[in-house]
Amino acid sequence: MMKAMKRAWTNSSLRTKWFYSIAVTIVGVYAAVCIIIYAALYAWLSENEKGNAVRTVDDLQGYFSSQSVQISVNDLQQQTGLMKAILTQEQTVRLYSLDGVELLQINDFSSRTPLLNETSRTIEQKVVDDQDVYVVQDVITIGRSAVMIQLIHPLTSFQAMMQYIVTTMLIMGIGALLLSGVISYFLAGHFVKPLLQLRNSMLQVKERGVSANTLTVEHGKDELGDVLHIYNEMLEQLDESFQRQQQFVFDASHELRTPIQAIEGNLKLIQRWGKDDEEVLEESLRISLDEIARMKKLMEELLQLARQQKVDYELALNIVPVIEQLKTEYAPFIHVQIEVENCLIAISEQALVQITRNLIENSLRYCSEEPNIIVKLKKQEQFAELTIVDNGVGIAQEHLPYIFDRFYRADDARLHVEGSTGLGLSIVKMLVEKYGGRIFVQSEIEKGSTFILRFPIKK
Ligand code: ADP
Repeated sequence: MMKAMKRAWTNSSLRTKWFYSIAVTIVGVYAAVCIIIYAALYAWLSENEKGNAVRTVDDLQGYFSSQSVQISVNDLQQQTGLMKAILTQEQTVRLYSLDGVELLQINDFSSRTPLLNETSRTIEQKVVDDQDVYVVQDVITIGRSAVMIQLIHPLTSFQAMMQYIVTTMLIMGIGALLLSGVISYFLAGHFVKPLLQLRNSMLQVKERGVSANTLTVEHGKDELGDVLHIYNEMLEQLDESFQRQQQFVFDASHELRTPIQAIEGNLKLIQRWGKDDEEVLEESLRISLDEIARMKKLMEELLQLARQQKVDYELALNIVPVIEQLKTEYAPFIHVQIEVENCLIAISEQALVQITRNLIENSLRYCSEEPNIIVKLKKQEQFAELTIVDNGVGIAQEHLPYIFDRFYRADDARLHVEGSTGLGLSIVKMLVEKYGGRIFVQSEIEKGSTFILRFPIKK
C-alpha cells in the first residue's frame, strides 16, 4: 500500500504533486487549529456550565438562610414560584430528608436519579433520560433541619453550542479547502508552465537540432525565468559554435581543394606532354611538389588547431634563452633586446617557439623591403611582455579585428604569398590563450606591425 502510494506520487506530474502538497498542508493546519480551538472552547464552556449549576445551588442556599428559622419544608412548598425564578431554564431541584425521602421538587425537566451517600458537596457528570447532565448534591439547612439538595443541570444548550461550532468549522473548512484547491491548482499551473515550455523546446531541439529552439522567455526575473534565459543563451552559443565548426570544415575543404586541383592539372599535363617534354615534366613535378608541401603544412596546422592538449600549470620555463636563440635563427633580420635576466612563464618551450616563429615568419613574409624585426622582452608588473615590431607592409584597420580568425587573410592579392594558409595567427592566439596570455596588435599600412604578447609571470 505504502509502496503503491509512493510509486503513484513519484509518477504523478509536478502540477499534481504541487496541488496535493498545498491542499494537504492547508487541511492539516486548519484541522490542527480547529482541534485546538474546539478543545479550548469545550473546556471553557463546560466549566461555565458547571459554574452555573453550582451558583444556582448557592443562590438557593442563600435564599433558604434568608428565611426565618421557624420555616419548614412544608412552608416552602407554597413558594415554589419564587424558587423557580432562581433556577435557570431547564434545571430541576429536589430536596430530600437525610434518610432519602423526597420532600420537595422544583421543576420537572429530568427524572429522579439516585442520591450519593455523601454529606459534603459533590458535582458529577452523568446521563439522565439519555441526556448529559451535571448533578450537584449538598446538605443544606432550612429553618432548623438539615436537608439534602440535588440539582440536575442538563447540558443541552452547551451541547447544541458545541454542535454548532463543529458544523461551522466543517463548513468553513470545506470552503477554505475548495478555495485553496482552486488557487493552488492555478498557481501550480502558472509555475509549471515555463517548465513545460522548456521541456517542449528540449524535445524539439533533440529531434530537430539546436536551431529548432522555439522558447520565448516571458517569465520575468525569477529563478525559472533565469533558467529559461540561461537555456536560451546556451542554445544560442551552441548554435553559433556549430555554425563556426561547419564554416571551419567548409573552409578547410575549400583550402585543400586548391592544391589538389593544381596537382591534378599538373599530373594531367605530365600524362599528355610530360613523357616527351623534359621541361614540362620538370616544371609540373616542381609545381606538384610545391602544392604537396603547401597541403602538408595546411594539414599540420589543422591538426595543431584540432589538438586539445591539457595545459600543465606546473610548467615554469625561463623564456630568456628561448628568445635569445631567435637571434641566431633569424640573423641578420632580427634585433633582440632583452631587459631581464630571467623570466619564468607557465608555457612549454615547443609552444613558445611555435608562437614566436609564426609571428616572425609573418613579419618576413609580409615585407616589401629588407626586413628589420625587433623583438623586445621586458617585465611589466605581473606580466612578461614580448613585443615583435616589423617594418612590413602593415595591416589595414578594417582587417585588424579579423586577422586572428581561421583562414582569414588580410588581402586577397596576397593569397598566393608563399606558405600562406591563413591559420598561422589563429594558432598563435590559441596557444597564447591556452597558457593564460593575451595578444594585441597595432599596425599601420606601409609602416609595419607590432604584436604584443603578455604572459603572467610565475613566482
Ligand atoms: P597567413 O598564413 O596568411 O600568414 P596568418 O593567420 O598568419 O595567415 O595571418 C593572417 C593575415 O594577417 C595574413 O594573411 C596577412 O595578411 C596578415 N598579417 C599577419 N602578420 C602580418 C604582418 N606581420 N604584417 C602584415 N600583415 C600581416
